[in-house]
Amino acid sequence: MWKILKNGCREYLGGQSDWSGAANEALQCVSFREDVEEECVADEVRSCYNCRYRRWTENSFICLHVSG
Ligand code: SF4
Repeated sequence: MWKILKNGCREYLGGQSDWSGAANEALQCVSFREDVEEECVADEVRSCYNCRYRRWTENSFICLHVSG
């Protein structure tokens, strides 16, 4: 579900509304760290969409945790 970028970061291929997919990714990720409350957008607490390593892009987001 990821595209590896040249800088080593990963871009999520599910876009910005794949709630179950993003939650599933975070469940499997040991690097998940909940972001501050105002940055959290998903109902599921543990979701890439709520992770402090997530940076929104135009169509999706990238994960800044290179080994995450
Ligand atoms: S570190 Fe990356 S893959 Fe892991 S939960 Fe956060 S955004 Fe998702």
